[in-house]
Amino acid sequence: MKLRYVNMKTNVLFFISAFILFYNAGAQSVLKSSGASDIPAMEQKAQAAKQRSVLSGAPDNYDLKYHRCEWEIDPAVYFIKGAITSYFKPTVSGFNQIAFDFSDSLDVDSVKYHNSVLSSIQLGGDVIQISLPSVIPINTLDSITVYYHGVPPSTGFGSFIQSTHNGVPVVWTLSEPFGAKEWWPCKQSLNDKIDSVDIFITTPQIYRAASNGLLLSENISGNSKIYHWKTRYPVAAYLIAAAVTNYSTYSDFVPLPGGDSLQVLNYVYPEGDSLARTLTPAIIEIIKFYDSIAVTYPFANEKYGHAQFGWGGGMEHQTMSFVVGFNYSLIAHECAHQWFGDHITCGSWQDIWLNEGFATYFEGLTVERYFPGNWLQWKTSAVNNITSWPGGSVLCDDTTSVNRIFDGRLSYNKGGYLLHMLRWKLGDSIFFLSLKNYLNDPLLAGKYARTPDLIAHFEAASNQSLTSFFNQWYYNQGFPSYHLLWGQTGSDVTLTVNQTQSDPSVSFFEMPIPIRFIGQSKDTTIVFNHTSSGQVFNFAIPFPIISLQFDPELHLLSAGNTITGISEYPSIDDQVIVYPNPAKDNLNILSLNNANMVESIVITDVLGKVILISDNNNNIQKLVSINISHLVKGTYFIKTYLKSGVNCKSFVKD
Ligand SMILES: [Zn+2]
Repeated sequence: MKLRYVNMKTNVLFFISAFILFYNAGAQSVLKSSGASDIPAMEQKAQAAKQRSVLSGAPDNYDLKYHRCEWEIDPAVYFIKGAITSYFKPTVSGFNQIAFDFSDSLDVDSVKYHNSVLSSIQLGGDVIQISLPSVIPINTLDSITVYYHGVPPSTGFGSFIQSTHNGVPVVWTLSEPFGAKEWWPCKQSLNDKIDSVDIFITTPQIYRAASNGLLLSENISGNSKIYHWKTRYPVAAYLIAAAVTNYSTYSDFVPLPGGDSLQVLNYVYPEGDSLARTLTPAIIEIIKFYDSIAVTYPFANEKYGHAQFGWGGGMEHQTMSFVVGFNYSLIAHECAHQWFGDHITCGSWQDIWLNEGFATYFEGLTVERYFPGNWLQWKTSAVNNITSWPGGSVLCDDTTSVNRIFDGRLSYNKGGYLLHMLRWKLGDSIFFLSLKNYLNDPLLAGKYARTPDLIAHFEAASNQSLTSFFNQWYYNQGFPSYHLLWGQTGSDVTLTVNQTQSDPSVSFFEMPIPIRFIGQSKDTTIVFNHTSSGQVFNFAIPFPIISLQFDPELHLLSAGNTITGISEYPSIDDQVIVYPNPAKDNLNILSLNNANMVESIVITDVLGKVILISDNNNNIQKLVSINISHLVKGTYFIKTYLKSGVNCKSFVKD
């Protein structure tokens, strides 16, 4: 079966990277995607996302403890009727009003408080403001119920969508980032998770309703059925979801480290049931893998699940991802969000990479682990996408724009590649230890995190400052291009590493850089600690080098790199004067061509051994003077590199 080809929203790069895997020996073939960049596009609607207000209008002056959500949904009708009961504790004194984020397009039927109906209600600016009959003391648990109905507006990715599949009606919700308020009164601010939720969905008997947590009961009521879902894990408003249609259901089971097993509950369109059953079992190895490199699945007391929907991608609703299909990389990506996005949620849309960069990279890690032959291709796709445009930071610099928040190139791929480079810089054991510490941090687990919270864990585990790294790769923009100049004399190699940057916000990207030196029948890779542009390295390679490869395994994000061997330099005999000759203390090298300054100098002895290297790349000059007082007496060769070529001369040290 062939899965979808996707257009990149970022419109610079269109790539197709699907490959065929033979799943069972000689049996059926299953097509899977290996691309790094397809999920972001799949998570984005093909249609332009309309911009919406980011700011949660509801003031953050209470701690939300619990919701009982009662919804009536008939997927044949684009309409919702609901009652939301909220338990809360005021966090300020004088609390005599409560507000929820709630779309102006919906109608409030009534608000009940302590069995009486409140009349002083204001709805405007997507906020419902309810005046209470008296002040509720600070930190006192109380509750209120809002009854409402209406046709939810369809903005962003479509918060509440009514559609059909195979001629059968379906309704699904997709609230991220700002759309929960478009179908229920809630608190959208990214700093107060709802501690627990009961969800009751009433729908005609022919349909099933998928939602968060555990399905406790399904009870017939007249011509309808009431599905009762319940979760006791903290959850952000945008991760609460419902989908209703004629689902067929089955489960896969994942062994957990403790000996229990985790149910993966699949709600699939009946017409795709047999195909789904061949694809969803891949989630078993994916979850086991994530358990091993991160922490045990964070909602293990409840479930994981998939509910099929008609939006062109997937959405990581807590404990029940909604997916358009069961493409391997899509289910790997949404599943990773259960750790990164759901268990720990970005504390601001500025930090969306804490959700999407991680999910993208974990999707990549499944390729590295299970499809190693495609790992280099995955990285190549990501690098090509990220470097297709010179600027842009991982930090989301416009949280009012849905397109910027979910920018596939920056929030997804560059965020993911930031993690890949951090893993390269710190090593696997510290990298994965830091992730475990982050996921286990009691101040973050089941809550929200900002980027400095993550940085603190990497710094603590590695015992080093990562300020420069995150300034270069997170806060600021662009990527480096490396320009290598190398030559070999005998076994001695000189290598000059210059660097330019695609964006002026970063003056230098400091990274350990791997370079492979390839000979006739052998090769070796050396990692250099590159701390400045123009840095010269002098070392030995015991075999004749035929060529160099810069970062052959793509540990780094870079593009436009060049490699120049000395032998490729044209010889220019008449443009340099070396004096005095013989020389005792100082040797002067003068370029006779004003347009052609001295860039670097290499002095070798008569046997070809490199004695001295002087690099002037950051301060190229017409006249260079070198102290040679420490050289032993004898004849030496001097190579002077100009922009246009190399000049070779000999001189005598007196
Ligand atoms: Zn995602």
